Amino acid sequence: MKNKYLIANWKMNLLSKDITDFSEYFKNFHSKINLGICCNFLYLEQVKKLFPKSWNIYAQNYSEFLDGAYTGETSCLMLKDKKISHALIGHSERRNLFLENNSKVNTKILLGLKYDFKLIFCIGETLEQRQNNETYQVLENQIKLGLLSVKNNEISNIIIAYEPVWAINTGISATDEEIFLAVDFIKKTIKNIYPETKEAIPVLYGGSVNDKNIDVLKKIAVVDGFLVGSSSLKKEAFLNLIKKYEK
Ligand code: PEP
Repeated sequence: MKNKYLIANWKMNLLSKDITDFSEYFKNFHSKINLGICCNFLYLEQVKKLFPKSWNIYAQNYSEFLDGAYTGETSCLMLKDKKISHALIGHSERRNLFLENNSKVNTKILLGLKYDFKLIFCIGETLEQRQNNETYQVLENQIKLGLLSVKNNEISNIIIAYEPVWAINTGISATDEEIFLAVDFIKKTIKNIYPETKEAIPVLYGGSVNDKNIDVLKKIAVVDGFLVGSSSLKKEAFLNLIKKYEK
């Protein structure tokens, strides 16, 4: 279980009091799974302070610039200054709503690696791309362009999250077969690019994971864990999910 991951993505949800309440619930909770939370910039320090040290606390994004005249942006240098060294990059909501293309995602990844970040790199196809049989081509492109110039000795700082866009926040998870085929393809693609890397790069699945489908999803052997949005927003539901995954 030590090689398994369950990462909450709170997106733009929860306020200070909710976070305190959430953390109280997990105060004396120990898990064999690697747990983490992706939370808003404003609450990163609070979350880091309140949750057990073993949990990894991820920023949900950072700027492709390091510093300068970029009003409203947050740089990875600022995160480092606040002792945050984990981040989620390339989430489909950032790609689709904030127009982050593969090249911007790549710039952010290279910058994060330069400053010793541990990253979760999100990839995944849209419904239209899946229906047009473009899934594998899209995934390969996202991997190749997103990881452009990432060196052999840096790749172990990256976890990949396969998140089909059509399964995110829709209540419709991909099937176990669809997930197996995509994650297997991702792992083979990474192996082709980084043949010398001994450690396998973990690949998570994300998209409508909940305490009802986790029993089926956790049996997909190639999947190293899950990135969870909606079902991570309520402490009871998230704890239930962790316990079911552990069982
Ligand atoms: C996500 O946005 O990363 C995600 C997995 O969301 P949900 O679980 O709500 O589909």
